[in-house]
Amino acid sequence: MLDKRAYYRLPWSMNDNPIAWIEVTDICNIHCEGCYRQYMTGHKSLEQLKEEVLFFMKWRNPDNFSIAGGEPLIHPQIIDLVAFIAQQGVKPVILSNGVALNPKLLHELKRAGLAGFTMHVDSHQNRPGWRDQNEKGHNQLRQQIADMVAAEGGVFLVFNSTVYPDTYHEIPDIVAWAQANIKKVQGLVFITYRTATTDDNIATDKNDQEVDLKRLSYTRETFDEKFVTGPEVYQIIKDHCPEYEAAGYLGGSIRHDSYKWLMGAMLGSERKMYGSVGKKTMEFAQVGHHAQKGRYLAYLTSSRIGAKIFWLSPWDKEIRKARGLRAKEVLRDPRRLFDPIYLQSIGIIQAPDLLPDGRADMCDSCPDITIYDGKFVNSCRMDEYRLFGGFVSMISKDQKEEKA
Ligand code: SF4
Repeated sequence: MLDKRAYYRLPWSMNDNPIAWIEVTDICNIHCEGCYRQYMTGHKSLEQLKEEVLFFMKWRNPDNFSIAGGEPLIHPQIIDLVAFIAQQGVKPVILSNGVALNPKLLHELKRAGLAGFTMHVDSHQNRPGWRDQNEKGHNQLRQQIADMVAAEGGVFLVFNSTVYPDTYHEIPDIVAWAQANIKKVQGLVFITYRTATTDDNIATDKNDQEVDLKRLSYTRETFDEKFVTGPEVYQIIKDHCPEYEAAGYLGGSIRHDSYKWLMGAMLGSERKMYGSVGKKTMEFAQVGHHAQKGRYLAYLTSSRIGAKIFWLSPWDKEIRKARGLRAKEVLRDPRRLFDPIYLQSIGIIQAPDLLPDGRADMCDSCPDITIYDGKFVNSCRMDEYRLFGGFVSMISKDQKEEKA
């Protein structure tokens, strides 16, 4: 059972948040189940994107730009945009499915100043050639991407996967693969799948007019499985890897007991995981980065942290535990003393939950906020703005009848 007192509440807010989420296109080259975005307007111009970058620089205080879509790598001026973001002194990070990535493009992106990738790979993406593979099977694709990015060097790599009720049990396979590749893979993110059902719900817009939910790409007619929660993802990782622990969190915008973002970082070598950083290290990292650079931190550009991380043992009980495990390992085999130590982050995101009264419990201080019509909007719900002019409220048909 998670206890919020054991974790550091990330100090991020609307106007001081390390992440700026910029969408370059709503066109994609594959079709993932549950995707929040649908084709309506196509590629944005470079001029519009530059304006959005400057808007974020003025109002968000970001440390990195998550360049998202659609699929950003198919935008014809993606390299110019990466260069423009890097010129602002912040980290450009591309969120991609990797289909369009090749060594030449990767090299040009790096030369333009790309800091890293968050690659979305999972078994519900309908990828040509991969449709019959489960999550473990997709580790082969993750490996191909990781090898390509490592061969270029100097660009960090995080993999994200959407977690469905039928893929939840495979999370440990992804974690074990990433740990074996700790030198090449700087982190994992698991995002729990959510959908609204058109058969059971009625949606109304800001004028209380009923809207057609089917127009949103991420609704389904029916869904009778139980959604996976963030704490369940935490638990299955912990059950298979006791050295794992979370360090920071963001709660819900409505519910006091939600865990919307759970952030952690494991410590290990290529042979063995020793433990995790704890709440204190997460606090030092956020506050220290802010004191030094004037902004909070979302991504590490290099994961080879070295044994100096153990200097934090007096303040951080999780690091003390990791140091103890490593000491035992070194006593057993002194050659292990020279194994490089890496950090590998694990993020768990629980997508918005629809509450019985029609409101949605969002991520407190939403880090993935984007710009729509000159205002910040949660990117996961921007299509409600694009289609219906604002957030919709949803209640079940049964409740509507009870109210009537
Ligand atoms: S509320 Fe923000 S952080 Fe949470 S899922 Fe939506 S866009 Fe992402």
